Amino acid sequence: MNAVTNNVRRSPPAKLPADSAARRPPLSGVPLDELVSLLAPIPAFRVKQIFLWLRRGAASFFEMTDIPLAAREELNVRWALRSTNLAGVKAGDSAQKAQILLEDGVIIEAVLLIDGAGRKTACLSTQAGCPVRCVFCKTGGLGFKRSLNSSEIVEQYYHLKHLSGGEISNIVFMGMGEPLLNLDELRRAVLVLSHGFSLRRITVSTCGIIEGIYELAAGWPAVRLAVSVPSARQQLRNRLMPGCAGHTLEQLKAALYKYQAECKHRITLETVLLGGVNTSEQDAGALAEFAGGLSVMVNLIPWNPAGGLLFEGQPLSSPGRSEVARFRQFLEARGIKAELRRRKGTAISGACGQLGVLPDGY
Ligand code: SAH
Ligand code: SF4
Repeated sequence: MNAVTNNVRRSPPAKLPADSAARRPPLSGVPLDELVSLLAPIPAFRVKQIFLWLRRGAASFFEMTDIPLAAREELNVRWALRSTNLAGVKAGDSAQKAQILLEDGVIIEAVLLIDGAGRKTACLSTQAGCPVRCVFCKTGGLGFKRSLNSSEIVEQYYHLKHLSGGEISNIVFMGMGEPLLNLDELRRAVLVLSHGFSLRRITVSTCGIIEGIYELAAGWPAVRLAVSVPSARQQLRNRLMPGCAGHTLEQLKAALYKYQAECKHRITLETVLLGGVNTSEQDAGALAEFAGGLSVMVNLIPWNPAGGLLFEGQPLSSPGRSEVARFRQFLEARGIKAELRRRKGTAISGACGQLGVLPDGY
């Protein structure tokens, strides 16, 4: 495996307050095989029934009517179903943003996106804040509070499912934080969420954490991968994503080759377009060259305004329509198919890069 060359490191799992030992730990984020050991001597077939209730989003152990009452009472004394609460909702035309209160007072955000065909996508967060600090991203601008545990990740899905009033068709880890800096808890959350939900409909988006991509390639549940490449020019990438400056685009590409060789999935390259910064023909040429040899889809995301963010002292701006169209043509002239991501959620600050409530203690 390549050396780990990112500037940022994995962060420790969530630290709960000192009195949390007295709290009943939540079961929402525990994968089935762990749950069987955790709840022994309850027989495995009963634990599976409990897991299925949890996975359907049960609100109380007493709803689990196929479990003997005595067992339900005992479970209720020792364990909680969940650890988070919905603190607020902002609703827009094609998006709803949930603000979720964690046990230690931190508030995180998750977004339900609804496309033209009515399909619903849950956009989940994996960290409170983000240590990578990309200059164009509001979450990065907040700094980093802590990583989320698997219950806190899984419960965002249940809160959004409740808001959606129906089925969710896709899950994307594109909310607050860098998923591959929280791999162990993300893996546990994926194991829970993918029960009865196809892995093909789960996408993890990374800024390009090399070690994490190799780990995904080596025997992870086969989730889809999206990689943020705001610039495929090394110097500009380093300036836009200082937290990624410790590795090269060459190392990133080698990791993506390995992922693709193992997982066979097409990779999405996500390019946030910043007016006058990364939209030239040279930028498109570099991106096309980076994509060469990989099976990719390029997703162009015109920058969503996030107040107060500066790039080397200058305010950032969204690119104009013609600037976006030209960039796309430059790519297509080089044989790279690119899709424009339709803006969703900007009205409620719930679009890519706009998430971030100032949690307690910031
Ligand atoms: N940390 C992960 C996932 C969360 S960010 C990552 O970086 O991939 C999800 C996507 O939002 C990334 O592609 C990122 O480049 C993009 N993004 C961040 N800030 C943005 C903004 N203000 N406007 C548009 N896209 C943004
Ligand atoms: Fe973190 Fe992703 Fe935002 Fe960069 S774009 S600061 S990696 S959340």
